[in-house]
Amino acid sequence: MKSLPEGATLVIASHNPGKVREIAELLAPFDLKVRSAGDFGLPEPEENGSTFAENAAIKAKAAAAGCGLPALADDSGLSVAALDGQPGIYSARWAGADKNFTHAMQRVEEELGDTPDRRAEFVCALAMASPAGEVEHFEGRVQGCLVWPPRGDQGFGYDPIFVPNGETRTFGEMPPAEKHAISHRARAFARLKERLKVR
Ligand code: IMP
Repeated sequence: MKSLPEGATLVIASHNPGKVREIAELLAPFDLKVRSAGDFGLPEPEENGSTFAENAAIKAKAAAAGCGLPALADDSGLSVAALDGQPGIYSARWAGADKNFTHAMQRVEEELGDTPDRRAEFVCALAMASPAGEVEHFEGRVQGCLVWPPRGDQGFGYDPIFVPNGETRTFGEMPPAEKHAISHRARAFARLKERLKVR
């Protein structure tokens, strides 16, 4: 895909206002107009891929085709080594309809049982699609290990049980700026910025 021209419109392929806001903030250094798939009244596609990258591409391609504009999507989650990468693409679904992450973290702990291998990683897959259906991928990961019980009340999702390598605090105990400096999402966006040559 060619680089986006200055002032181009980029559609964020998400109906989640929190995610759209966060991505718009990360894209602030770009000279781009940012809109969301919700602004265009597009339906949400079924995320039936088997990897983060496939699901991101499904969302980005659907939004780009629906709007006739380039679109960016992200898909992310926690991958636990001893659980063969689960919850992975099901990270949000493990929290149930009421988005209860206390319950989701408990499920991770129960499934690990007394397994000594506590390695895990957060993954963020970005996909940028053109209206013609070309897709480019950018991925970021942060490796660490899981602790129990959960610690800290910052961040969201599985943050209170994840200690990134080289740290003693969980993501839930770290001020947001510190988490954002090393997170999977920050690393994926750094790759996107290299591609778009934004300083
Ligand atoms: P998505 O919105 O479909 O990409 O789902 C992402 C899910 O992965 C979230 O609901 C969280 O459960 C989990 N997740 C992704 N990134 C993070 C993070 O930075 N901290 C904690 N949980 C995360």
